[in-house]
Amino acid sequence: MNSPLTKSKFLDINVIRQEFPILNREVKGRPLIYLDNAATTQKPQQVLDALTHYYTNYNANIHRGIHTLAEEATAAFEHTRDAVKSFIGAGSREEIIFTRGTTEGINLVAYSWGRKNIQANDEIIISNMEHHSNIVPWQLLCEEKGAILKVIPINENGELVLDEYNKMLGPKTKLVSIVHVSNALGTVNPVKQMIADAHAVGALFMVDGAQSAVHLDINVTDLDCDFFAFSAHKLYGPTGVGVLYGKKALLEVMPPFQAGGEMIKEVTMQKTTFNDLPYKFEAGTPNIADVIAFKSAIHFVQSIGKEKIRRHERDLMDYGQQELEKIPGLRIIGKAKEKVSVISFVIENAHPQDIGILLDNRGIAVRTGHHCAQPLMDHFCIPGTARVSFAIYNTRYEIDELVKGLLRVVKILS
Ligand code: PLP
Repeated sequence: MNSPLTKSKFLDINVIRQEFPILNREVKGRPLIYLDNAATTQKPQQVLDALTHYYTNYNANIHRGIHTLAEEATAAFEHTRDAVKSFIGAGSREEIIFTRGTTEGINLVAYSWGRKNIQANDEIIISNMEHHSNIVPWQLLCEEKGAILKVIPINENGELVLDEYNKMLGPKTKLVSIVHVSNALGTVNPVKQMIADAHAVGALFMVDGAQSAVHLDINVTDLDCDFFAFSAHKLYGPTGVGVLYGKKALLEVMPPFQAGGEMIKEVTMQKTTFNDLPYKFEAGTPNIADVIAFKSAIHFVQSIGKEKIRRHERDLMDYGQQELEKIPGLRIIGKAKEKVSVISFVIENAHPQDIGILLDNRGIAVRTGHHCAQPLMDHFCIPGTARVSFAIYNTRYEIDELVKGLLRVVKILS
């Protein structure tokens, strides 16, 4: 039966919430209301069980062992690769590289592809709404190579100014790297068209999918992106695991990113030959347990269906925006037409950090600060925002509690 806490038009949230043990805990004497899902999502029981099951029953290093445990661990690890391949519509399992997260995926491309292919005066395009992990690797590459970093501006709604993007594209453009969904604003960028535009001038396109993989249907083949990076922990999976998708033809000719065990075919003191894809990019012992458990997270999302998840989160976002806008002095930052699951806001005379502390006192977890997007905050002339971000287990009741908490903030601080 639905309690007021769990009413939804689209899903039996009560059943879904029962799969997340952490949602039973209290914070500061009140039931936890977790609205920091863009930072990391909570984990369903099946993900926790997969971790325990691995360590309890078949913990072993993978790929090199011939004993039973090693074979079982290898098979489970590689099953996740197959699950990821179909989850994002990749053409082949060799295109799926396990990393530590989105950050490592972007760095891998910047170091391996970038250092081989970028030369002085080449141009790389990013945007003004990027996470620092999709800014700094390209800055470092441009500094090293004497290349030029160009930045697509955004408008007051927090949308990319695409006319400017199209003006920037030209024969010198070698790579465009853009966030699919902004972590700070929730803006969904029209990457499919942007990819086609980049390809028309011969440039490659990388998608930062850290925030999109959990909310949008991802088909890298249909998008035709050259690289796509995302993190398991924002997708109900464990921390310390991410995926870099890359087109096979590109990955095949890219030099290794890290060197060590597993990424080699043969080593002599004179010369080393490298392993086949994807192992060429997976040096050392990987995060075996968490990669295995990631498969359970993918199954969790697939068993509900992204369409249903999206409709539920859309309802929460629309309701949340409507209710938050009634609060005196509150201003929502980022009002893109295409937007998912994030509401960023400021309140007159209230520092975002104070908002966060006062809400935490009521058991409500939100994120405050610059959200690793300082240039974006500079654009809006603010030091930071308070951000609520939704997941499948959130409810309208929780938004009502958030609003009560914010009204209290307004009373105390203004
Ligand atoms: N890109 C975006 C848009 C993000 O939101 C994040 C994390 O918040 C990252 C990249 C970096 O992800 P990770 O810290 O999992 O590597």
